[in-house]
Amino acid sequence: MLCNERLRIAMQKSGRLSKDSKKLLLQCGIKINLKKNQLIAFAENMPIDVMCVRDDDIPGLVMDGIVDLGIVGKNVVEEELLKRKSEKKECIFFILINLDFGICRLSLGIPISSHYTGINFFKNTKIATSYPYILKNFFLKKNIFFKSFVLNGSVEVAPRIGLSDAICDLISTGATLEANGLREVSVVYSSRACLISKSKNFSSVKKKLIDKLITRINGIIKARESKYIMLHAPVKKLTEVVNLLKGVKKPTILKLAGDKNTVALHMVSSENLFWETMEKLKSLGASSILVLPIEKMME
Ligand code: ATP
Ligand code: ZN
Repeated sequence: MLCNERLRIAMQKSGRLSKDSKKLLLQCGIKINLKKNQLIAFAENMPIDVMCVRDDDIPGLVMDGIVDLGIVGKNVVEEELLKRKSEKKECIFFILINLDFGICRLSLGIPISSHYTGINFFKNTKIATSYPYILKNFFLKKNIFFKSFVLNGSVEVAPRIGLSDAICDLISTGATLEANGLREVSVVYSSRACLISKSKNFSSVKKKLIDKLITRINGIIKARESKYIMLHAPVKKLTEVVNLLKGVKKPTILKLAGDKNTVALHMVSSENLFWETMEKLKSLGASSILVLPIEKMME
């Protein structure tokens, strides 16, 4: 196979997305040995090379065609897109699939002591952020003038040291914000990791490989969201039991040796089974209830 027929995928070298990105590639069956500080790793079993870089570089590497695919937060892609648009640079890319990790939001935070009066609070304020383009776009639509103060880290300390009146930063639980005497008042952009590509016109070899990866990723995500449920149920209560199990397609019903009044039910549920549902199942006479994780799925 020609060297340029190898698929290049960029992922974050070290940070919040690196562990999940690596896990995803390994679960897709790509055999790579990623060592610390290694820029590129060659898969042993597929024509795939994985590049490990800073997350901020990934959208540009994809948009400039240096790599074929990138695993990166939508927030970083959106910021690069708006930046390139403002510089009138080329910015073509496609989101091939939304992933189930890196879930966070870019939010506005103000000191707990400030009295929040609604979005107009931000008129003529100074806001510290690492995402000036997304923020500008957000306030432009609302016709609110503000000043951004660009910081590439420790954004949350800016109000405390008098650098800004507010912040716009990535949040998942809000604990860091709270620890810095701030509170979240408005979501600017909701984000998660995604798989991006520059084009959809790959060579047939690459296209086949990308399609295969997308199918596998879909299967991995679906499996993570689903559970395999097994239980014993009284025949008389079968309908009620099945009605309690949301997201179940057709359950498999099996006879139990020496017991005509009870059957075994096996099913894939698109939702986890909560304790409350398990207790309701039990009160309907169900027993031996097992909830198992699923590793892979292909429908
Ligand atoms: P790099 O050194 O690669 O530039 P970084 O410090 O800019 O890394 P990280 O903090 O590792 O970036 O975050 C990477 C991405 O993870 C973010 O762009 C965002 O998409 C996602 N992310 C950020 N904060 C959170 C969070 N609290 N929870 C989940 N995902 C997050
Ligand atoms: Zn970064």
